Amino acid sequence: MSTRPSTSQNSYSTTYSSDFKYHHLSRIQKVTPSVARYSTSSYPSGGCEERKSLKSAHGLVGLRNLGNTCFMNSILQCLSNTESLRDYCMEDYCMEDNGGLMEEFVSLMQSMWSSYGREAVSAFKFKTQIDRSAPMFVGFKQQDAHELLHYLLDGLHKEVRVTAATAGRRGTEGIFDDMSDDEKGKVMWSNYLERENSKIVELFGGQLKSTVTCHHCGFCSTVFDPFWTLSLPIVKGPMTTIMDCMRLFTKEDILDGYEKVTCFRCKVKRQCSKKFSIQKFPKILVLHLKRFSQAPRTKLYTNVTFPAKNLDLKPFASENNVNTVYNLYAVSNHMGTSTKTGHYTAYCCSPVSGEWYNFDDSKVTPICSSKVRSDSAYILFYELSS
Ligand SMILES: [Zn+2]
Repeated sequence: MSTRPSTSQNSYSTTYSSDFKYHHLSRIQKVTPSVARYSTSSYPSGGCEERKSLKSAHGLVGLRNLGNTCFMNSILQCLSNTESLRDYCMEDYCMEDNGGLMEEFVSLMQSMWSSYGREAVSAFKFKTQIDRSAPMFVGFKQQDAHELLHYLLDGLHKEVRVTAATAGRRGTEGIFDDMSDDEKGKVMWSNYLERENSKIVELFGGQLKSTVTCHHCGFCSTVFDPFWTLSLPIVKGPMTTIMDCMRLFTKEDILDGYEKVTCFRCKVKRQCSKKFSIQKFPKILVLHLKRFSQAPRTKLYTNVTFPAKNLDLKPFASENNVNTVYNLYAVSNHMGTSTKTGHYTAYCCSPVSGEWYNFDDSKVTPICSSKVRSDSAYILFYELSS
């Protein structure tokens, strides 16, 4: 299926989903459940010394290229400029010295936001931590920035997630029978939060609704899946819009042949149609443009236009009365022909000044906001408007 979303969290279904599993990206093996506790702030409070170098104190600090690590640097800069995540790292996360991924991430964020020199920061320790748990990123080969982002969100989440004492105690047998899809979605989401709550879910967690309709008996089933990012297929041609990519992503798909799904009512595999809509819009919406095809590994250079302000995704919402308007604050760019070669940079809007900057490994330079939208755009970071 070309419109499959990226999700590595468990899917859950109100009726059936045994044939409706998503591709699972590699997960972090070590899960250290720990509770993020409040601590005294380590964020600079603004004395004379601290005002000396506003440039780097405001997160405008480059990251050294350790040898083909621009894919990682690009993602780290986008995350560093995610205001609520930065605040969590600077103020709320309590260091436990457990040497985990979150620990290294927080420590890196703190050095990026409180470093006074103009020297670029090294993410070597953070990279070493990733290598420890994710063999696919070991070494200094160029990698896919989206795969890294997905891995990071999942890994960071697993280290700080909180499971409620009540999780899994209530059965779900029969409770959905008289519920509307909207109510089901909400119950599914609160059940999910009982098992898997974290700052990462609070910021990046969204919920996708898939509706599968049996072509034989008309039975309609709904499946709800949490997601970190949405991977959008690109409409072929020299130019398209992000809305057209969203339309393609949510377009009704026919599941036939080996993709047939076992119908709950017919009890056998049937040709079905499947459609996605967004049930819960995340605070931070990450849209990944699927520029790279699997085999042969080629890149689509289609110029995808996207608005910086007021991207309204209402046409793709399952329910009407929700806020669906987003503003852009970061873009991970890829220049070159494949994920194994080429170069990554990030354009980010500083949460402090509201100005845009080009983060190109160790170099950070101001950029005009009109230059942010380019055909190199690969991963878009949007924040829900308040
Ligand atoms: Zn059926």
